[in-house]
Amino acid sequence: MLFIEQFYNLNVNICMFIKEFTISKRHERHSKLGKLHEYWRTSTMVVLRCDSCDVEFTRNRGSMDPNRINNNYFHVCSNCDSKRFAQKMGITRKQIWDMPASSDLDISKL
Ligand SMILES: [Zn+2]
Repeated sequence: MLFIEQFYNLNVNICMFIKEFTISKRHERHSKLGKLHEYWRTSTMVVLRCDSCDVEFTRNRGSMDPNRINNNYFHVCSNCDSKRFAQKMGITRKQIWDMPASSDLDISKL
């Protein structure tokens, strides 16, 4: 939480990865003999805050590029147009967006 506040104070809108959690889903299938078999699948979900409309949303971790699950990337929910959002942010922001996490660039000078 402290981390998030720090980013708000810097007025840099790039801290929108909130948490991740695991869900279990029950599946059923019928064997050749018609017997019902139950099995469970777990999937990891990530909770992100939309950088466009500020809504929290979840996404299946498996459907995302693992390199993008961090706060150096913008995340836009399914209700928002990510392309339009990118345009709105402009080219300068896009450069920040693609900046590697290991960059030692002073964020206050951006
Ligand atoms: Zn949104």
